[in-house]
Amino acid sequence: MNPVAARRALITGIAGQDGSYLAEQLVDGGYAVHGIVRPTTSLANLTGVRDRITLHEGDLADPGTIRRALGESAPDEIYHLAAPTFVPDSWLAPAGTLEAIVVASADLLAAVRELTPSARVVVAGSREIFGSPVSSPQDESTPCHPATPYGVAKLAVHQLVGLLRDRHDLHLSSAILFNHESVRRPARFVTRKVTRAAAAISLGLEDELVLGDLDAVRDWSAAADIMVGLRLMAGHDDPGDLVLASGVGHSVGDLVAAAFAGVGLDPAVHLRVDERLRRPAEPAAPVGDPTRARERLGWSVTTSFEDLIGEMVRADLAALR
Ligand code: NDP
Repeated sequence: MNPVAARRALITGIAGQDGSYLAEQLVDGGYAVHGIVRPTTSLANLTGVRDRITLHEGDLADPGTIRRALGESAPDEIYHLAAPTFVPDSWLAPAGTLEAIVVASADLLAAVRELTPSARVVVAGSREIFGSPVSSPQDESTPCHPATPYGVAKLAVHQLVGLLRDRHDLHLSSAILFNHESVRRPARFVTRKVTRAAAAISLGLEDELVLGDLDAVRDWSAAADIMVGLRLMAGHDDPGDLVLASGVGHSVGDLVAAAFAGVGLDPAVHLRVDERLRRPAEPAAPVGDPTRARERLGWSVTTSFEDLIGEMVRADLAALR
């Protein structure tokens, strides 16, 4: 009797925070995992699975990259995660952002339709499609008013996914992702900035942490939990768009408190608030309502905010030592 063939997955952005956790989960699940990386992409996040995955080199700005990777991997599931991801940068290059997110995704979806139409596709969307939300929490029917070029681009892809799903009867889903973090989050994101500073101050390497706005609220989850949600979306027979979020808002002040608790220091002694860094207040907190994902997929986050931040602080302590 022939062994059952492993399911095959293709991940764009496989070497990023999310892609690397997703690759680990799929490898553990017995999948043959393929991923796309640029020649310049750091593979550090893939250390644990590098010898058990197949990498295809290329840039998604070149439509030939995705066509080659689809042909060589013949995926059952496709996770489209690659994108420029630091939102403020999108103000510096609106056209480049649209090209990298909208055009690359449109090319990918067209190639899927032509080459692997039975593949199940999950695209990483963003809560930035809601912009500064007028009500909280946000769910799949909350009106979209993006407030950054990145948000505009993510909204265009989100809508394209829905249009192509309906018109061509493809298994396409858009995951509306709220902030998710891990020890693999780059240092310019606020969570990592704070956990790294708490570690550095406790080791006597730095004196203070400077932040602009302690009141800003975010819905932070663990990246690994969010990747479980993406896999369940691909596994569900009915494609659709879902909010993946913890459903709980925490302020930057909560983040600071959790990080400093992890090193046993009083944040008040080491924190300086610089009013020049303060951003305009948000009319309603950007917090997700994951009810539909819970009902449809049985999914919810399993890692608490405190555990997530504690793990990031411990990783930063170990790295700085
Ligand atoms: P990362 O920045 O960690 O990873 C993104 C990956 O995409 C990188 O490996 C990057 O490679 C790759 N990439 C970017 N552009 C291209 C390209 N043109 N061709 C090939 N590869 C490319 O992001 P995350 O893992 O955090 O995010 C994954 C997805 O989830 C993104 O689409 C993001 O917008 C979305 N998302 C994430 C949220 C979060 O809180 N993490 C929240 C909401 C949405 P390189 O190193 O070469 O640039």
